[in-house]
Amino acid sequence: MTSGKVAIVGAGIGGMAAAIALARNGIEVCIFEQAPQLRRVGAAINLTPNAVKVLDELGPGPSLRDRSFSPNYRVSRTWDSGAETSRIEMGAAAERKYGSPQLIVHRADLLSAMLAALPQHSLRVGERLAAVTQDEDGVELTFQDGRQRRFDAVVGADGIHSTVRHSLFGDDKPIYTGMAAYRAIFPADRIQDYEIESFVKWWGPTPSSQLVTSAINGGREMFVFATKAEPESSRESWSAECDIDGLRAAFSDYHPEAQRVLASCDSPFKTALYIREPLAAWSAGRITLLGDACHPMVPFMAQGGAMALEDAAILSRCVAESADVHSAFRAYEATRLPRSRRIQKVSSDNDWLRTGSNADWVYGYDAWSAPLERGA
Ligand SMILES: Cc1cc2nc3c(=O)[nH]c(=O)nc-3n(C[C@H](O)[C@H](O)[C@H](O)COP(=O)(O)OP(=O)(O)OC[C@H]3O[C@@H](n4cnc5c(N)ncnc54)[C@H](O)[C@@H]3O)c2cc1C
Repeated sequence: MTSGKVAIVGAGIGGMAAAIALARNGIEVCIFEQAPQLRRVGAAINLTPNAVKVLDELGPGPSLRDRSFSPNYRVSRTWDSGAETSRIEMGAAAERKYGSPQLIVHRADLLSAMLAALPQHSLRVGERLAAVTQDEDGVELTFQDGRQRRFDAVVGADGIHSTVRHSLFGDDKPIYTGMAAYRAIFPADRIQDYEIESFVKWWGPTPSSQLVTSAINGGREMFVFATKAEPESSRESWSAECDIDGLRAAFSDYHPEAQRVLASCDSPFKTALYIREPLAAWSAGRITLLGDACHPMVPFMAQGGAMALEDAAILSRCVAESADVHSAFRAYEATRLPRSRRIQKVSSDNDWLRTGSNADWVYGYDAWSAPLERGA
């Protein structure tokens, strides 16, 4: 397929990557985003080498280097004793091994870099999709204000509450995990003698308790990510602030070094964590799904965004190499389903790199050269 008009619903990491990747192959793309504007929300995101590899090829990768941080090590430590249970060389060593580095970057900087790489005039903000239907010749999108638009194909990159997913597969509700995530960024000079060159994960006394730290922004700032059990669920959000004293109290039996990190930060954002059961299929005819719309996962491997980026690269390759949209979407789904399902499972197991040190099957995946399946 070297031409056609494709609508992408959602301008998150996955939707923007898909738009950039498809447009490179001559496809006319239009992205519909419900938000009236793309605001600077969220905290940092950990982009592992497999994710950076996609961004490097798409264009935004190089410009992210200045605003991000590439840790030299990925370290696991035990919450109370501080004992180290795993140490993996990252930094230049990971770049030599995998072809791209790990980058920790502010989510807003990532989205801005992707926005700058979008095809001109392809993004429509303030356009909330209400329903999608298809016939033999095309797909019809109906927006909340009643307007309708027709396309050759649709990619639903509209996140965990995906309207496109709902239209295709009905109403399976997201499941609350019983956990909330907290994220904060603070000036790095507030914390002295901390292992700032490493990405450190402190493994807690229960599976839901953990604390992750890394520098961002060239080492000028520190990023903290923590999760803990919370019986009450609230709609997930990138920008809800929370009570720092309650968070510090929940980690008061952690090693003093870990506690120093929480003592240094203020006003974290809180996000309730939801998942969905893996789907058996995510394409139907001229409509497919991408990113959290089809495989949301708990953020314990830092692979949700990476999977959305890999999806976009594979989707664009399948479209380029297929005769029509049906075979392209079948090939895309067949190629992506086994890997994303495995990563959803390992994320839920929440044991990734606690002790082991071989991350090759995740970090070494190259979505630009991985073999494509054809699909049934
Ligand atoms: C706390 C936390 C930390 C995380 N940390 C990491 C990490 O370190 N590394 C990593 O790789 N991943 C991480 N993830 C996962 C990652 O954030 C997601 O997997 C990723 O954002 C998914 O991107 P997406 O484009 O599929 O969906 P989203 O980012 O959810 O984007 C969906 C877009 O669709 C829009 N939309 C929704 N409905 C409609 C509609 N009806 N019409 C039009 N537009 C619509 C939304 O407004 C949104 O802009 C983390 C997740 C959480 C919760």
